[in-house]
Amino acid sequence: MKYAELHNYIGGRFTPPLAATPLLDVHDPRSGDVIARVPLSTAADVDAAVASARQAFRRWSALPIKERVQVFFRYKALLERDIDELAALISEENGKIGSEARAEILKAAELCEFACSLPQIAAGEVLEVSRGVECRIERFPVGVVASIAPFNFPSMVPHWTIPNALALGNCMILKPSELVPLSAARIAKLLAEAGLPDGVFQVVNGGREIVEAVCDHPDIAAVSFVGSTRVAKLVYRRATSNLKRCLALGGAKNHLIVMPDADREMAASNIVASMSGCAGQRCMAASVMVGVSKVDHIIDRMADVARAMVAGKDIGPVITAEARERISRYIDEAEAAGAKVIVDGRRAIVTGRERGYYIGPTIIDHVTPDMRIAQEEIFGPVLVIVRADDVETAVRIENASPYGNAASVFTESGGVARYVMEHAGAGMVGVNVGVPVPREPFSFGGWNESRFGVGDITGRGSIEFWTQSKKMTTKWNREAGTNWMS
Ligand code: NAD
Repeated sequence: MKYAELHNYIGGRFTPPLAATPLLDVHDPRSGDVIARVPLSTAADVDAAVASARQAFRRWSALPIKERVQVFFRYKALLERDIDELAALISEENGKIGSEARAEILKAAELCEFACSLPQIAAGEVLEVSRGVECRIERFPVGVVASIAPFNFPSMVPHWTIPNALALGNCMILKPSELVPLSAARIAKLLAEAGLPDGVFQVVNGGREIVEAVCDHPDIAAVSFVGSTRVAKLVYRRATSNLKRCLALGGAKNHLIVMPDADREMAASNIVASMSGCAGQRCMAASVMVGVSKVDHIIDRMADVARAMVAGKDIGPVITAEARERISRYIDEAEAAGAKVIVDGRRAIVTGRERGYYIGPTIIDHVTPDMRIAQEEIFGPVLVIVRADDVETAVRIENASPYGNAASVFTESGGVARYVMEHAGAGMVGVNVGVPVPREPFSFGGWNESRFGVGDITGRGSIEFWTQSKKMTTKWNREAGTNWMS
């Protein structure tokens, strides 16, 4: 086994779980090899992490924010220094191809850059509200917080929460996905090297038991979650019923509306990149293309682009053998129901990595909105095409999805673009963009069953979630008037 058994990171030290616990194998999805073992820690480990975080909180939260962000200036430089090694680790545990893994680290650096600007952005407000009377708002951290992460971005999603939450004065417990726990340990080491005091950041490895303990723990004030809608609902209900603030991001089924006037090359390359990037394991991936009227010239080009992709070089594997089976079953079922598989990735094999969990880009035409494959999240490199006669019908199809992460339109018409942007039932919309992820300082967050809770997880929108505001009213001027409001 390439890596030693993983430990938790508590109080600035890597320590094994307090109780003897089962170990899970961690696989390299490219080869199927076991590369590490991760412990399924227990609630006692959450207790220990929270106790350590509470102790650290007193000093960390008392530092001025300008001092706290110095850690993230240094940490960003360390991410850039170690980008090759960090990207290689992501490829090993998650399977991403090199460019995708590097993009995660570059995005993590961008998230740090935003956190470093928080002293300017979250500076509070002050106003003389009547003569000699001043009101001000200052932001205070909420306390010990938790971040629960999914498997598909082992580094980027934890960085959605770590820099902002910590820069704003909180102490954090990260629960990485048990499928990809290696990057979290590297993050802990690098934060320590950047000078983060012990106890401000902890990692507790495990699965459901840790998530439940986090939701129940009386000393955890806020829980952020990113993962499937099924678990997002469980976490949101449990954390809020314990009177915590919670932001739980769920799954997605993103629709791209393609108009006949769309630029053929741009649309084809962007749509295929969106559905196949990260092997389709992105909550922003294109999943349903709604082709309006005559778009066969664009579909033909998309098929060419997708067929030219080489598994193992241009597209990585999916996360597990079970995921590959599940995705293949969806394709089989759609085919049996009368849909036409125009690009078929089911038999993708990479020479020398025959045990890897590969599945090539797959495009399925003539799917109807009532088919399961058009409604459920597949989380693989599969794009289904449904047809509509006009943009109003296309938007109605998009609106019928219970999810609401992203939607895009490909067109050269400003009027059609505006119509879709206004009427799509999604929190992040794009025009001629396959993956409409807002970049900092804009915030990331969907609608409907793609997000439970108020606010967004990154950018300006996250400041409210990671802080509580205090409203202060002062009067030092003896001559200032007195009225019923002051
Ligand atoms: P998942 O929901 O299975 O797991 C997410 C986390 O929850 C993991 O840390 C896991 O250990 C924990 N967990 C799993 N089952 C649990 C249970 N029954 N009770 C408590 N905790 C549990 O998600 P995943 O498979 O790791 O990630 C893929 C999903 O994440 C997709 O649905 C994808 O769309 C979604 N995702 C959403 C966003 C977004 O921004 N909306 C971003 C990335 C991923």
